[in-house]
Amino acid sequence: MVTRHVLIGSGPASIAAAEAIRGIDADAEIRMIGAERAGYYSRPGLAYLLAKEVPESALFPFTRRDFDLLGVEQIHDRAVLIDPGKHAVRLGGGEALVYDRLLIATGSAAIPVNVPGAEMDGVVKLDDMDDARDLIRRSRAARTAVVVGGGITALEIVEGLRAHRVDVHYFIRKDRYWSSVFSESESRIVEEGLRSRGVTVHYFSELARILGRDGRVESVETAAGERIPCEMLAVAIGVLPRAELAREAGLACGRGVLVDTHLRSSDPDIFAAGDVAEVSDAATERRTIEVLWNSAAAKGRVAGHNMAGGPARAYEAGVPLNVTRLAGFRITVMGTVGGGGEDADMKGIARGDSETWRRRDAGTTVVEAQQGEAHVRLALGPRSIEGAVVMGDQSLSFPLQEIIAAHVDVGPLADELRAPSAHLGELIEAFWRDRTAHHA
Ligand SMILES: Cc1cc2nc3c(=O)[nH]c(=O)nc-3n(C[C@H](O)[C@H](O)[C@H](O)COP(=O)(O)OP(=O)(O)OC[C@H]3O[C@@H](n4cnc5c(N)ncnc54)[C@H](O)[C@@H]3O)c2cc1C
Repeated sequence: MVTRHVLIGSGPASIAAAEAIRGIDADAEIRMIGAERAGYYSRPGLAYLLAKEVPESALFPFTRRDFDLLGVEQIHDRAVLIDPGKHAVRLGGGEALVYDRLLIATGSAAIPVNVPGAEMDGVVKLDDMDDARDLIRRSRAARTAVVVGGGITALEIVEGLRAHRVDVHYFIRKDRYWSSVFSESESRIVEEGLRSRGVTVHYFSELARILGRDGRVESVETAAGERIPCEMLAVAIGVLPRAELAREAGLACGRGVLVDTHLRSSDPDIFAAGDVAEVSDAATERRTIEVLWNSAAAKGRVAGHNMAGGPARAYEAGVPLNVTRLAGFRITVMGTVGGGGEDADMKGIARGDSETWRRRDAGTTVVEAQQGEAHVRLALGPRSIEGAVVMGDQSLSFPLQEIIAAHVDVGPLADELRAPSAHLGELIEAFWRDRTAHHA
């Protein structure tokens, strides 16, 4: 009998699941429901589209032929109801799809700002292709924009607006940018980078209300009563997993869809992967949400494998990593490197972000140095490197990724790195050279 797989969502988690299913079962029926007209595209690439660095066509990794070769039927519609009893998914158009195995990979959605005037035309976000197109269209006409929020997305919007020569005011609610992950020096490097790119950075600025005429944004007002005229207010205060369908279907949910290490939900025939899945880490038993492309694909692969009945496979989170660009600086964040605490600019996790980054152990020592063109910070355990941030020159990024991911015992190097005025870069490079020569 042919197994019927229905996948809700058309992002990397669903695509990876489809590939894994097909790898095991050549005859399976795979139907992928996607609400977005744009279908499958690089969501992180939207930042580069906005910044005028790539054309829209560069964001589509799959052609129709690739879907045909994979044997996936794409259904452009919205899933509006899951009926676990009947093993069926109802679509917005009324049709019901029956499944043997179901994947929920609905991603995450931006948290809306909750101040008077938030419904006005000109309040924008960056979730998907439609938002990016809308931002580009508005940027061509707008003179001034205010950006609120934190994490990576807020600054990607800032960068995109500047590329369209829009004057940008960036609000920081407290005294510095991304305080839950970055050190004070890293925040200052980014803030200085913003200023050098013509952005006006406002500290201790909290958005209080949005003012306008005929339903259109004309200015914003801060809690301190300062008014800034603008045609656009961009909001990036975090995202939440899109778990409503799962919740309404009676599946166990926390912030996202609760899944075991096999990515199976509380219903044995329903799996979840990607941003929407709240996964329990096998080692720490901590439930973690990640909003990372590679993690979404990795979860999709495991879910698809298990859906197709391959020998049970567990998801191993590995070391979450993002290589991004903020205010013109290339930046890699990896492992457990942030001190956590409240990030006043965020109401949820950001895109391109992992909760794991904020979970630095109380026992770790942090060392930090500017080395030539790179700013490096390391979180050191007694004989290991647990996490790192590399800003600017990225030559240390790859060795550090490898050292952290493989939990390499760095032995006496940890003490050398802790020494006052240690040349972090040179020490890591020398260690890496020796190690690779040794393993060659
Ligand atoms: C601007 C931006 C920048 C980013 N930057 C980075 C980065 O630097 N690094 C990084 O690793 N990650 C980044 N991300 C995050 C990354 O793109 C996501 O983690 C990843 O796309 C999640 O994949 P997913 O398959 O879980 O869901 P998604 O890619 O979000 O796909 C889910 C799809 O499901 C659809 N859907 C939702 N509900 C339904 C329904 N009921 N019926 C049918 N379809 C539905 C949605 O419309 C969407 O198309 C960024 C994202 C954005 C938007």
